[in-house]
Amino acid sequence: MKIVRVETWRERVPLTRPYTIASGTTEDVELFFVRVVGEHEIGLGSGAPTELLTGETSDACAAALTEDRLARFGGLDANALGAATALATELLRATPAARAAVDMALYDLVTRALGVPLAEFLGRPRAPMPTSITVGIQSTESALAEVDEYLGRGFRSLKVKIGQSIDEDLERLRAIRERVGPAIPIRVDANEGYSLADATRLAESLDALALELVEQPLPAAAPEDLARLPARMRRVLALDESVHDEADAFAHARVPDSCAEYVVKLMKCGGVTPAMSIARIAEAGGRGLMWGCMDESVISIAAALHAAYASPATRHLDLDGSFDLARDPAEGGFRLVDGELHLLDRPGLGVRLRGE
Ligand SMILES: [Mg+2]
Repeated sequence: MKIVRVETWRERVPLTRPYTIASGTTEDVELFFVRVVGEHEIGLGSGAPTELLTGETSDACAAALTEDRLARFGGLDANALGAATALATELLRATPAARAAVDMALYDLVTRALGVPLAEFLGRPRAPMPTSITVGIQSTESALAEVDEYLGRGFRSLKVKIGQSIDEDLERLRAIRERVGPAIPIRVDANEGYSLADATRLAESLDALALELVEQPLPAAAPEDLARLPARMRRVLALDESVHDEADAFAHARVPDSCAEYVVKLMKCGGVTPAMSIARIAEAGGRGLMWGCMDESVISIAAALHAAYASPATRHLDLDGSFDLARDPAEGGFRLVDGELHLLDRPGLGVRLRGE
């Protein structure tokens, strides 16, 4: 099947619940959309450039998705998927969200045409897993109200943002653990906000708080400090800002006991193609994967979920990025059932644009 053309557009989407993490507060997001039009099918993709994480601004993402570049996909055989995704890599390497949008749209197109869900195309899908839902940095009182609401909506795993003040973080975490009891997994994410001394204090409370994972306590810019974290913490350490791409995953896999998991995000690495490479590196290096996201359309959350369910290295899901969009131009992809993410039994990503 020949690719006829590639279309793109951008939309600013407000969040229903602005949130704060160690690096600042977010109220709305700019999302990019890609539609690859084939002779008999279309494929959809979406990108959420995140300057704080990757340096990719919305304008850089827009500037990368030029008509000239997208025109180079016209006439390609979509079934030669490796060649088409390699062209996306070549043209869009410096803008991972733009690359991810095109990359996943190519996968969507081909797997729709084949009539198989992307997870089946990529591997042998696993049973549905729970996703965590994120609780931002806020007062203990308002965090507890948010936790109550999430448990009421069926979520069964929490990711609590920390990293601005170790004292306030410990107080808030104690209160949340007390409120939810021992059965709800709690993972934390400091977004590089701690010093080694702060992280060491958190390490001393890991058992009392029964924390499942500690995500990126230290700045990625100081990788030598990772080795000085207490061994107890490294056993539950997940690296996010430290691991963007395949080269980072490989570098950390070479250091014994550097961490337990990598946080893989399509918007960091550039799509399904590099994410599956990171998954293979993690598997070979004895590391697990947590699949994370930014604030994203269901299109790209679904792409990450298909990839996650196809990978043997997958340990955790943190794919809550579409739940707080005030309006998503797309729908479908997955259903939330008792806090678990269930893929729909549809070809491709299983998504469509509203009204189409
Ligand atoms: Mg993170």
